[in-house]
Amino acid sequence: MKAFETINQIRGEIREKQERIAEIQARCVHVWGPSRPDCPSSSFPICNECSSEKHGWWCPQSPTGECDYSLPSGRGFNPDSCRYCHQPEERK
Ligand SMILES: [Zn+2]
Ligand SMILES: [Zn+2]
Repeated sequence: MKAFETINQIRGEIREKQERIAEIQARCVHVWGPSRPDCPSSSFPICNECSSEKHGWWCPQSPTGECDYSLPSGRGFNPDSCRYCHQPEERK
């Protein structure tokens, strides 16, 4: 078999496995925790069950596991203070 065909076959297998991961993650009832338990303040949220990741800062107080800089009014943002843990968006 030519390398071209072998590679296409492997790519198909990778795609199937990625779809399988996406299925498992879509069904997961996520349990968010810090990506770096030794340094939670510089962590992003990662699910302890399925390893899904979020891109924001880990927030121990937020129901989504992620810092939220929107104002309680729902209009506008305050990047200096998460509405749950009050950490700035740019962590010191
Ligand atoms: Zn999960
Ligand atoms: Zn926060």
